[in-house]
Amino acid sequence: METVRSYPGISIRDSPIHGKGVFATQTIPAGTVVVEYLGERISRDEAERREALTGPNGITYILEYDARLFIDGAVGGSEARFINHSCNPNCAIRRDEGRAYFYATRTIQAGDELSIDYAFDPDDIQTPCDCGTPECRGLLNQTAAEAISPCGSRETPKH
Ligand SMILES: [Zn+2]
Repeated sequence: METVRSYPGISIRDSPIHGKGVFATQTIPAGTVVVEYLGERISRDEAERREALTGPNGITYILEYDARLFIDGAVGGSEARFINHSCNPNCAIRRDEGRAYFYATRTIQAGDELSIDYAFDPDDIQTPCDCGTPECRGLLNQTAAEAISPCGSRETPKH
């Protein structure tokens, strides 16, 4: 598969939020697609199996595309898998014909860390957040009232 593995204006380095993060090396205008979330394409059953294997405190890189399609960034993934969560993010996910892209929701300055709202299901294991923004809700999980993904693909948060 011929795919651009990363946007040229980003680099991976240690993050003050968590582990490694992705940082802009140049100004990224609002609306710019920064990077595609690449990885192995798997079913919900396989995603749940892998998450169970890793355990609640392990790290997985599985992105929920929709109810049936999941993308495991641990297998053939791009830099996108290192983008950390923030409760006041500067990127969001665009889903388009089975592919997931992260794009800038506002202008990102060189040196800024890229972030998205992981928006974990409120029914999933509660995962503390250390994003440090004034907007921090304390968890990577959404509240029940917020449980609508940015692209509206999660119409029924409970399953
Ligand atoms: Zn937070």
